[in-house]
Amino acid sequence: MKKDIQPDYKVVKVHCACGNTFEAGSVDDEIRVEICSECHPFFTGKQKFIDKGGRVDKFKKKYNR
Ligand SMILES: [Zn+2]
Repeated sequence: MKKDIQPDYKVVKVHCACGNTFEAGSVDDEIRVEICSECHPFFTGKQKFIDKGGRVDKFKKKYNR
């Protein structure tokens, strides 16, 4: 393990477009992202799916005779 070869890797604040901030390792002083674990479709997809289901349910109720 030669530390001299490695870049200046450190823990920095990551600012997401959704307003969430978290820490991550990077060579930059600051990171700005548009998607994080709080708003990434992979994590919010389940909630969206439920929301979609609710809309379908509403639609069905509207045209239920
Ligand atoms: Zn986010």
